[in-house]
Amino acid sequence: MVGAGKVIVLGSVNVDLLVSTPRLPCAGETVSGTGLTRQLGGKGANQAVGAARAGAHCILLAAVGADDDGASMMAALASHGVDTGRVHVTPSATGCALVATSPQDNQIIHIAGANSDVGAMLTAGVDVGPDDVCLAQMETPASATAALFRRARAAGACTILNAAPASLDARQLLPLCDLIIVNESELALLTGAEGGLRLDALGLTRGRNLLRLTHGQTLLVTLGADGLAIVEERGVIWISGHPVAVTDTTGAGDCFCGYLAAGLARGDDMERAAREANAAASIAVQSLGAAASIPARAAVLQILA
Ligand code: ADP
Repeated sequence: MVGAGKVIVLGSVNVDLLVSTPRLPCAGETVSGTGLTRQLGGKGANQAVGAARAGAHCILLAAVGADDDGASMMAALASHGVDTGRVHVTPSATGCALVATSPQDNQIIHIAGANSDVGAMLTAGVDVGPDDVCLAQMETPASATAALFRRARAAGACTILNAAPASLDARQLLPLCDLIIVNESELALLTGAEGGLRLDALGLTRGRNLLRLTHGQTLLVTLGADGLAIVEERGVIWISGHPVAVTDTTGAGDCFCGYLAAGLARGDDMERAAREANAAASIAVQSLGAAASIPARAAVLQILA
């Protein structure tokens, strides 16, 4: 395969404790729940699974605790084809997200745990080559991402920041990125545009300018059911969403980012990689779960054929 680089994902690993309830509790109230499950979660883990399911050799740089959750999340990652050889085991507890879902809404309590131990040291000694793609999010310390991206840039590799969850700390990383991926609310926070931005070519170009991106940097805005926009200096490329019956949009953005990184590592251009990522995410929203709903590449190629 021409241009087949690795995908190196730096990010979080959580155990997601999911419970369904007919109605979320008010403060001080107890409600009944059903269907408690423990699942692999965390943006780093989900995006690494996305890249691996897309066919990339994907190395995850992350930290878990020396506990049962850490061991079972590592096993789950390996079962999806992620290279976990560089996931560190630290004295902290494995990160955890308590997720209560009702038909109307959801509530999440996140405990960062071992994810806070992800430091610049984790990136030392990682072999980064010119065909590789490095991908990070904002659930682990920005200092570690900066260290990885500096190494990547020195090696001529591509750097992608998915600036999620929305955080102003992402601004300091922007000069180190070749590609910045955000959804609408992350774009609004990062640009600080009064009253938000119009999601047309003029508004998105203004957003790109507010982020002070330089000539070679690309902004990619995901637009949920409407697909996405690739915002470059020379103009905007729109890719429509696939009309599908939605079951659960959890992790749609993670599936998108993992697939996109794998496409670029394979040597695809931005538009081709984004079309595949868009198709993959449209399959992911049709079933429950985050990592669990990410499709294999064969299914994605089928709907693009
Ligand atoms: P996030 O999950 O980060 O909030 P989005 O909601 O923008 O991000 O979704 C990411 C991508 O997932 C979209 O660009 C699109 O490809 C796909 N997607 C999300 N929601 C839908 C939907 N309802 N129908 C089809 N595709 C969707």
